[in-house]
Amino acid sequence: MRQGSWIQTMKDRRPNILFIMSDDHAAHAMSCYGSRVNQTPNIDRIAKEGVRFENCFCTNAICAPSRAVILTGKYNHLSGVRTLTEHFDSRQQTFPKLLQQNGYQTAIVGKWHLGHGGNSDPSGFDYWNVLVGQGFYFDPKMVEMGEEKVFPGYASDVITDLSLDWLAQRDKDRPFMLMCHHKAPHRPWQPDELHAHMYEDVDLPEPGTLFDDYATRAEAAREAKMRMEHLNAKDLKVDVPQGMTKEEETSWRYQRYIKDYLRCVASVDDNVGRLLDYLDAEGLTEDTIVIYTSDQGFFLGDHGWFDKRFMYEESLRMPFVVRYPREMEAGGVNRDMLLNLDFAPTFLDYAGVEAPSDMQGASLRPVFAGKTPDDWRTSMYYRYWMHCDNDHNIYSHYGIRTERHKLIYYYGEALGAPGARDLPKAPEWELFDLEADPYELNNVYASPDHQDEVRALTEELAQLQAHFGDEPVHK
Ligand code: CA
Repeated sequence: MRQGSWIQTMKDRRPNILFIMSDDHAAHAMSCYGSRVNQTPNIDRIAKEGVRFENCFCTNAICAPSRAVILTGKYNHLSGVRTLTEHFDSRQQTFPKLLQQNGYQTAIVGKWHLGHGGNSDPSGFDYWNVLVGQGFYFDPKMVEMGEEKVFPGYASDVITDLSLDWLAQRDKDRPFMLMCHHKAPHRPWQPDELHAHMYEDVDLPEPGTLFDDYATRAEAAREAKMRMEHLNAKDLKVDVPQGMTKEEETSWRYQRYIKDYLRCVASVDDNVGRLLDYLDAEGLTEDTIVIYTSDQGFFLGDHGWFDKRFMYEESLRMPFVVRYPREMEAGGVNRDMLLNLDFAPTFLDYAGVEAPSDMQGASLRPVFAGKTPDDWRTSMYYRYWMHCDNDHNIYSHYGIRTERHKLIYYYGEALGAPGARDLPKAPEWELFDLEADPYELNNVYASPDHQDEVRALTEELAQLQAHFGDEPVHK
């Protein structure tokens, strides 16, 4: 046998990557993150056999923009999806393309949410089968390699079934990268029959900030339309009982909302277990990096809200648990600051592919291995573009989070971004000391005691913005 052909037939020992991502699953709805409201034994298993990351943040807490950042390793002003209305241009460089070009088998099953047709279909995948738009919970319509089909069943089960089917037919001599991306637990939180009766006879604990009055905070917080009273008939699924006080109704709405949300989470967790079981049965556990995350966090009644979008902790924080027995200690907890920007260069690093210089994140491989570089980031830049969108009315803002502080600037303009409304608002600032005020109830921006921090953080925000090639709205 000639040496060349021998090399070609040698087994490729680079790790497999199983990248499980759900939609809108907040860390505080996972028992490994100390949830007060539910149990997620299968996701916990990844954390127990791997590492739980306490401070993984998204650069824009909304679905499509976060997904574009993950694929490209670039902020939204460069990856071209600043809002839900902008479609992804799949001709640009993405990590799946680079993995595919470098010998990986690649697939995405489930949520894509970056547009269809034209240049927006998934690209860089040997196999793709994605929900149309947001997708339905029941009998979802999906586009399989360009062909639209209905898949009978419950979305979380269907997406896992199709993921397992693809794994079963793969070439076992080459590594794979599979994105199993769930629709759940996205609004309108429709559980399957198996989980429909969970929590039926209990009242779940309310978050301490359910009745937040937004005193001290920017107008943006008061004007946001994602309080319990903004849950609609489709969200609630039953009529609101008559005769309750306003406060009682808020509590009632919270119970309706959180229970359906957690029922959807329970199905995702079961399906994570099915994938882990498959890896065990196939002897792939040691050689496969398993990640469970969500495209951003979510408000679970926190500050009186559902949804995300704000730079506040509950939506900024992505759950992020990773298992890779070959390079990671079991049961670790890590507090380094990670970003969704880092995922693409991380996957490329494991594949032995050099990250292109225009990717803006850093490989997490040393962090996963417990060898975080000394010069690792201690602050992050965030930007939400979809100013005063029709449904939620969140004001556009950008800001900086350090280990201790968060400075937010509500610049309050649409700037022509599709999906943003041209309703200019007076600019406002917020500053939080996360150590003294972890729930961000006390905006100290105007406090004389905090002007040193205001100055330093404003300067650092400008530096980050320049570093990432973004521009201040007001100079
Ligand atoms: Ca989402």
